[in-house]
Amino acid sequence: MIDFSFTKEQEEFREKVREFAQKEVEPRRKEWDREGKSALPINERLAAWGLLTADMDNITRGILTEEVAYVDFNSAMPLVWATMPFVLHQLPGVPEEVKKPIQEGILSGKSFLALCFAESGAGTDMAGIKTSAVRDDEGWVINGTKNTISWVNADYYFVCAKTGDEEEGIWALTNFLVPASFPGVSKPKIWKDMGSKGAVRGTVNFTNVRVPLNYMIGEMGKGYLLAAEFFDTNRAFIGLKCIGAAQASVDESCLYAKKRGVMGKPIAGYQAISFPLAEAQTLLEAARLLCYKTLWMADKGVRHTTEGAMCKWWIPEITFEIVRKGLLTHGQYGYTEELPFEQRLRDILGWQIGDGTAEPSKLLIARSMMGKEYVG
Ligand SMILES: Cc1cc2nc3c(=O)[nH]c(=O)nc-3n(C[C@H](O)[C@H](O)[C@H](O)COP(=O)(O)OP(=O)(O)OC[C@H]3O[C@@H](n4cnc5c(N)ncnc54)[C@H](O)[C@@H]3O)c2cc1C
Repeated sequence: MIDFSFTKEQEEFREKVREFAQKEVEPRRKEWDREGKSALPINERLAAWGLLTADMDNITRGILTEEVAYVDFNSAMPLVWATMPFVLHQLPGVPEEVKKPIQEGILSGKSFLALCFAESGAGTDMAGIKTSAVRDDEGWVINGTKNTISWVNADYYFVCAKTGDEEEGIWALTNFLVPASFPGVSKPKIWKDMGSKGAVRGTVNFTNVRVPLNYMIGEMGKGYLLAAEFFDTNRAFIGLKCIGAAQASVDESCLYAKKRGVMGKPIAGYQAISFPLAEAQTLLEAARLLCYKTLWMADKGVRHTTEGAMCKWWIPEITFEIVRKGLLTHGQYGYTEELPFEQRLRDILGWQIGDGTAEPSKLLIARSMMGKEYVG
């Protein structure tokens, strides 16, 4: 039986998150964007509101993402990453006494774990990762440079490194937990991005960083699988954060279109204004259903690689266009920094790249349709 409704608890949670976003997120939005300050401290505020709970299902986490992104794009992702069960925070293989305080710190909003996959020569093609982890009697020694890391000012790094031979490709990759305080971990170098500024993206170097043997996450040579599992679900959250920003743009445009008079009537009276808004609302409804279906599959333990890939390539593209039309509906006002449209465009554009560009996602979908042997 198909049921499209949210539970009473989920609806109540949505209301509380809306209130949280208005009271705690909205006043800080410009500070994160204009001054490039890290949005991470917002996690502590969510915890203080009692909304950062350990047993949240993925649908509820989607609601959190969508509602926060309606007010500010940048803080939605760190908030959802601080919730459990975030697949990478499970830190499989890491002993309880090491991971418990880390998980507690994340869940209280006091600390954060950043994900270090990409390097200057390896983004889409993870087999190109050069960061190495070499085992000796006492532990692992990690060397390499990770760049383009969001929340690079984090307390812990989830580092994907090569432990096998070049010819093993992605099956040479293994993940490691690396505390930022360990000797050999550099101070992060923060980049000047055009958008997503609150996500403080940058570079971190690992020079002869020693971690104990049991800081290896998951199984050796299976690092890519854990990353892929994370990406499948995270792509629905990225979709929902784009939807939040685009829905706000549509709602603001409807209000403005009813107020703004041109040639004797409100611009809402011109179909050149109202039809694009109607089309945008239709697309957002379809996109929202796709995201929540993907999260529903994640909650049911059903593989959702194809659905996640659909969220990733499609939603940042349509929402960019929806926000652009919202900006134009506001005429010259839309182009000012006073209104949030220009920020939303910059932020969404970044997530047409972050977590994978459109092309590899389309490859995943095409493979599911025709087989890897044909699509490549
Ligand atoms: C805002 C933002 C946040 C990010 N956060 C993180 C983070 O927290 N952690 C992290 O590890 N990384 C992060 N990244 C890095 C991001 O995941 C990579 O930039 C992304 O995977 C693309 O890799 P690349 O930039 O090296 O591009 P490349 O892989 O070099 O691709 C270049 C171009 O070639 C295209 N292309 C690639 N393969 C194919 C193909 N098979 N067919 C056709 N076209 C193809 C791509 O679509 C792209 O247009 C972030 C990036 C951004 C912009």
